[in-house]
Amino acid sequence: MSSASVVAPMRIGHGFDVHRLVAGRRLMLGGIHVPAPVGSLGHSDGDALLHALADALLGAACLGDLGGLFPDTDPAYRDADSLDLLAICAAHIEAAGLMVGNIDATIVLQQPRLAPFLQMMRQRIAQTLGIAMEQISIKAKTSEGLGYTGDGSGIAAYAVVILQRISA
Ligand code: MG
Repeated sequence: MSSASVVAPMRIGHGFDVHRLVAGRRLMLGGIHVPAPVGSLGHSDGDALLHALADALLGAACLGDLGGLFPDTDPAYRDADSLDLLAICAAHIEAAGLMVGNIDATIVLQQPRLAPFLQMMRQRIAQTLGIAMEQISIKAKTSEGLGYTGDGSGIAAYAVVILQRISA
């Protein structure tokens, strides 16, 4: 897309995603199955972290958003593995002449505790994007019992990313 070809050494992107939490679904986060009594409701696997990250990547490159690339009305993406969707976004970024500088993300979830899973999520994302784990930060927070994340009815994720121009 033309906007991404505007010469700039770095581009920033931001992504946000929310999913409703319901019984009978797996809780997928950062490509990891996190054992929990509830999981993300969604057309794909409902991985809020990867969706926020994908939107940040696409946003930084001015390439639209995840919903535009993979419409939730398309049966092809039912229960899709969001790591696969992220890999496709990464290919678009690379085709636009950009590479990831670093990623910083925050998951907002009341429970379960995510600390034991964060390293594995970083590893999975690093593999998918072909970057080092040191380029990826993932933090987990509760919302102190407030709002839809606090009462356990939903999960939210935020991501920011810096993309750098691949030098010719
Ligand atoms: Mg989503």
